[in-house]
Amino acid sequence: MHLSEILNHLGETREHYFHAVSPPVIQSSNFAFQTLDEFRLAFTDELQHTVYTRGNNPTVDILRQKLAAMEKAEDCLVFGSGMAAISAAILANASAGSHIVCVNSPYSWTKILLRDYLPRFGVEHTFVDGRSLARIEEAIRPNTSLIYLESPNSLTFELQDLAACAELARRHGIVTCADNSYCSPVFQNPIELGIDIVVHSGTKYINGHSDVVMGVLCTSKAIARKIFEAEYMTLGGILSPHDAALAIRGLRTLELRMQRSDSSGMAIARYLEKHPKVERVLHPLLPSFPQYELAQQQMRGAGGLFSFYLRAERIEQAEMFFAHIRRFLLAVSWGGHESLILPAAAFYKIPGRQNPALPWNLVRLYIGLEEAEWLMEDLESALAVV
Ligand SMILES: *Cc1c(COP(=O)(O)O)cnc(C)c1O
Repeated sequence: MHLSEILNHLGETREHYFHAVSPPVIQSSNFAFQTLDEFRLAFTDELQHTVYTRGNNPTVDILRQKLAAMEKAEDCLVFGSGMAAISAAILANASAGSHIVCVNSPYSWTKILLRDYLPRFGVEHTFVDGRSLARIEEAIRPNTSLIYLESPNSLTFELQDLAACAELARRHGIVTCADNSYCSPVFQNPIELGIDIVVHSGTKYINGHSDVVMGVLCTSKAIARKIFEAEYMTLGGILSPHDAALAIRGLRTLELRMQRSDSSGMAIARYLEKHPKVERVLHPLLPSFPQYELAQQQMRGAGGLFSFYLRAERIEQAEMFFAHIRRFLLAVSWGGHESLILPAAAFYKIPGRQNPALPWNLVRLYIGLEEAEWLMEDLESALAVV
């Protein structure tokens, strides 16, 4: 099905709600039955029947159908945050005594889940350099139950060869999960490359308006059912019908937003790469990127997120740069309409905390929907003071 049909029509059975063009927010916690037999039938399968909104909700269901189709997956579950989706995917493939292989620099809280939280339950992990298939294979043990990938990651953008990882895992009988937030379903579909589970922070591009925190998990019908009956229903980290309606609205323009961020992002990355005050730009689709060929092979675009290293000798010079930025908002997150700047220097000099291993001259930019020229002017005048 064409992406535009998915975003604008799929799952919207308008005859069920007065032929309203925009789907209603079914803001109800529970659903009534006309007969005892219908009630009993619904209890046989809460994934298929609408009983209670922690399980199923008609507004949320429309969103699930669209996201599954976009990721070329059989099914999709949505959650109240990206981390709820990631936790569900990881917990579904872990038990006491099992082992997880994970890339070195996944999203920060994913790392904390594996490194600090899951050991309490006897779940082991190994972090590996995911750029090397050999490193991943070496890390596999007889008790490895999951290989967790994130390609590219959202700060330094290391990639994994997703098709090769999927093939390796299949040979060893191991489940694969990939965080696809960076590319969104518009620019990469890991399931087509053989990955079993795709997760997203829907907070980023999928909702795209910086007003909802949500998570997405796309997979086969069998895995979705297993996760629904365990992590989804027991941990209960669901998305509200109202937030689902906002996300459906956000999806209408997903393709347009991705194209805009991608082309402006590329223009600004190219501009920065030539700038004398910039040491290096990290953007997976710039020819200077170490994994450029792999990026070209498995991604259809990059979106608006990339990083660069300021050419500066002292952190105070970087601080001057940030003090002169006017048009980018100084903030975490990304994927909304607004352009953002996240300096590694923000993690330095935090009272009571050690400085991080990240170099202070690393700067992450997210290019939103504003005019690229207007954003470049801001960078130009701030770089002038470094
Ligand atoms: C933001 C983010 C997450 C976490 O998502 P939340 O919606 O904030 O819970 C996970 N992975 C990546 C790559 C992210 O950028």
